[in-house]
Amino acid sequence: MWSGAYGPEKPHVRKRVEWKRIGALFASYWKEQTFVLVCIVVSSVIGLIPPFVTARIIDVAIPRKDFHDLAIDVGVILTTALISIALGVTQGYFNSLVGEGIMRDIRTRLVSHLHRMPLSFFTGTKTGEIMNRVSNDVDNIDNVVTGTLTTILTNVVVIVTTIAWMFIWDWRLALISVAVVPFMVLPLGPVGRRMYDIRKKTREKRDEIESITQETLSISGMSLIKSFAREQFERNRFYDVGTKLMRLEIRLAMVGRWFMASIGAMVTIGPALVWLGGGELAIAGLFQVGVIVAFVSYIQGRLYGPAAALVGVQVQIVSALAVFERIFDYLDMPTEAYEPEGATVLPHVRGEIRFENVIFSYSPDRTILDGVSFEVKAGQVAAFVGPSGAGKTTIMQLVPRFYDPQSGTISIDGHDVRTVTLESLRRDIGIVTQETYLFHDTIASNLRYAKPDANDEELRAAARLANIDDFIISLPDGYATVVGERGHKLSGGERQRLAIARVLLKDPRILILDEATSALDSQNEAAIQSALEVAMRGRTTLAIAHRLSTIVSADVIFVVDAGRVIESGTHAVLLARNGPYARLYRTQYREAVS
Ligand code: ATP
Repeated sequence: MWSGAYGPEKPHVRKRVEWKRIGALFASYWKEQTFVLVCIVVSSVIGLIPPFVTARIIDVAIPRKDFHDLAIDVGVILTTALISIALGVTQGYFNSLVGEGIMRDIRTRLVSHLHRMPLSFFTGTKTGEIMNRVSNDVDNIDNVVTGTLTTILTNVVVIVTTIAWMFIWDWRLALISVAVVPFMVLPLGPVGRRMYDIRKKTREKRDEIESITQETLSISGMSLIKSFAREQFERNRFYDVGTKLMRLEIRLAMVGRWFMASIGAMVTIGPALVWLGGGELAIAGLFQVGVIVAFVSYIQGRLYGPAAALVGVQVQIVSALAVFERIFDYLDMPTEAYEPEGATVLPHVRGEIRFENVIFSYSPDRTILDGVSFEVKAGQVAAFVGPSGAGKTTIMQLVPRFYDPQSGTISIDGHDVRTVTLESLRRDIGIVTQETYLFHDTIASNLRYAKPDANDEELRAAARLANIDDFIISLPDGYATVVGERGHKLSGGERQRLAIARVLLKDPRILILDEATSALDSQNEAAIQSALEVAMRGRTTLAIAHRLSTIVSADVIFVVDAGRVIESGTHAVLLARNGPYARLYRTQYREAVS
């Protein structure tokens, strides 16, 4: 399934509805559903009693002026009503249990599937669209999973028992009663298809709205809008998409309108026919009025009502299918291709890293790494330098297998990274990037993300090594300070030092470091510099180096240009060689040198 580094394949267009798959979602709740089914059958059968007893009241108890009979009949009606209410409440509870359980299961499956999706999926998909599927789409099938099964079962059982009973009681009136039912069902197909199409489009529009919201209402997006004064533009863009969605929703609402109206008509026409036919038979003295009253009550309450409900459910299901399809599309996307059969756990890592003739591209039309080979010995600090876009970050991302190369091998301590389990591989790699990501949570929780069981002393020790402890304890809430969305309540330098402390807590054997290019004041710079020195100590470090001090003190420097390592050696050796490194050094670091 995995298509190399080119990201997930486009989901195929599904032709057939995967009923089995939808059914499988219900499978683990079979006990609760059996219970619901029992409630439904019992209450449907009980529901036959009141109209029957009503007919007895009209035709027997009242004409005979028998108060005792009347009281018994009324007592029976009341008792059946009470039992029905109790059954209804119990059924409602189990129903919610099944529905909400299924929703939780789908959501968790979606999220855990997304966790295993390759990074290329996230770079190629708008966050808003992902959010929309995980939250709104799942919410949208809520009605279907919570109510549908019960609605179908209840109504089918009610209809079947009612028709059977009506034919047993009087087949002539029964025939008249069911005559209009086909007219209610016929238009189902075309109406359903139309709803399905429109529903698909409304979901896409909602994706768009969610994406715009996500992008513009984030802290970075807002800063951009404000700095370019684009509020009016963004408002108009939002309004336009909103209008398109509004039109689609109106169309969706209107599709079933005529159809529902025709069902409404049948609900009136049916009883009229029963009165006409039954009335004629009653005039002929063939049976009594109470029977007609009971039949009318059956067909209104237990035949047309449920038939209309089934039709409604069918329409609801068809339009929910469009949403199910979107969820299944995500679940079918290939996850990270990984862990071949029998992947081994990477044993205690020393930290020797070797690239052999690695060729990599993000998309087939452009090669990014064109035969990269290098070796970094355990415990060494390797600095990668080179012009922007040369491929340095890409090299780093291949080590923890965020992407896989098209050819060549990457090994750690002689183990090809593709043959070991992802968990063991990533456990020993720590990454500090230019852009520090922090959760909107406390400093302590953010640090513990690296080591959930770390105690307070461990947190403080790591923070001290990263030169950030003093700052943290000077805050009014100390380690309980909430860092704000993405950590924006902290300065860039503070965020970086927190990220270093976080990596120190993880204590990996290999450190990947993308040094920040942004200049910090000298005090901050010095604090970060010494934090990094601590972080690098005793670990193999691959650093995309921007600081002169990191480059000069590195054990080995690799000069990357246009996807190749064109030169390597120590600072002194490379300077003496007077090649590309020496030129880069003179142009890029002239200021720092002088
Ligand atoms: P810099 O020093 O500016 O960060 P770099 O040497 O780290 O640059 P890379 O980030 O590795 O360069 O990028 C190498 C090339 O790959 C660039 O031309 C970039 O446009 C491209 N690239 C990076 N990430 C992706 C991606 N996810 N999809 C497609 N192309 C990408």
